Amino acid sequence: MDSLLRHMVDMTGHRDHTMLDISVISAVQELSGALQTRVLAIASVCGQRFVRPRACIRAGGVACPDEAQDGSPGEPITAFPELAHCLDHHDSRAEGKGPDGLRVLWLPIWFGDKAATCLEITHHGEFTGDTIHMISGIVSVYRNFQNLLDYSERDSLTGLLNRKTFDDQLARMLHAPDAGSLVPGLPERRHHGAEEKQWLAVVDVDHFKGVNDRFGHLYGDEVLILVANLLQSSFRAQDRVFRFGGEEFVVLLRSTTLDNARKIIDRFRLDVETHEFPQVGRVTVSVGFTSIRAADSPVVTLGHADQALYFAKANGRNRACYYEELLANGLLQTIATNDTAEFF
Ligand code: GH3
Ligand code: MG
Ligand code: MG
Repeated sequence: MDSLLRHMVDMTGHRDHTMLDISVISAVQELSGALQTRVLAIASVCGQRFVRPRACIRAGGVACPDEAQDGSPGEPITAFPELAHCLDHHDSRAEGKGPDGLRVLWLPIWFGDKAATCLEITHHGEFTGDTIHMISGIVSVYRNFQNLLDYSERDSLTGLLNRKTFDDQLARMLHAPDAGSLVPGLPERRHHGAEEKQWLAVVDVDHFKGVNDRFGHLYGDEVLILVANLLQSSFRAQDRVFRFGGEEFVVLLRSTTLDNARKIIDRFRLDVETHEFPQVGRVTVSVGFTSIRAADSPVVTLGHADQALYFAKANGRNRACYYEELLANGLLQTIATNDTAEFF
């Protein structure tokens, strides 16, 4: 019991999803005597479910995060038939047997009718009722704590990540294994001959004050929710979308070429332009984007994207402008920035 309490204290002492994952699998692994415990992320991409390991611990080992090397969504759910059946039926757990005779237990973490996370426990022999009971208790604490963390990291109107989590996510993107091109000394990663980089885009709704003035604040809020939904459907699972405040959003795009970044951003801009917003009708957005360089602080990178955004605003709106291109064409000038300056 002492060790369960110790693990509970550890699990509830974190303010970060990665550390929570690690302490949960460490607890399950030690208390159940499993061979391996993993946190699996379950994501839907184009209507298909994918499973990607997010953290793992093996018997005698140390728990560690398991970052995808290529930003891919993971393995198709068809590789986990018992788990697929369990998710389809909203069951609390599924069991299976590997070809090596080992048993596997999957415990999805349900929030309403959605499960984006699952614990996977590989073990010898059968678990006793007490062990299952103890693991179920840990799953409940895990779910409650994930809920709390989500609440503090997300914007309550749109459900997008809030500004508070931006620095963390940017640092995570810069240090991800597939961000090799950003690490000084390592060769740049190339894809079809073009360099893959990380990108930051600032999105601002055009003439949003006019929407509020003409239709009222409630319709304004509805527009923000719909723009947030379009952002989430236009960008990829490995990208990160934030509401920075008011009608301003920031997107971090992971490991892609300039051509792709341009295409993805412009597709989103067009999705907004062609969307029929109830009552309000047509709404457009302007975007400024820039490449992320490890040498630049977040404030400097945001400043560059912001300069490109203001260029887009001053030159017709409903367009996406690329900072480095504007700079190369002499349409913008570098401005000396001080790391503590506020741009928003
Ligand atoms: P521009 O094209 O230059 O961006 O013009 P704009 O009208 O979009 O920009 P401006 O900064 O003048 O106005 C932004 C407005 O957004 C003003 C503010 O009242 C409104 N706003 C900020 N947060 C919210 C919110 O949460 N809900 C609603 N409905 N309106 C908001
Ligand atoms: Mg605006
Ligand atoms: Mg604005």
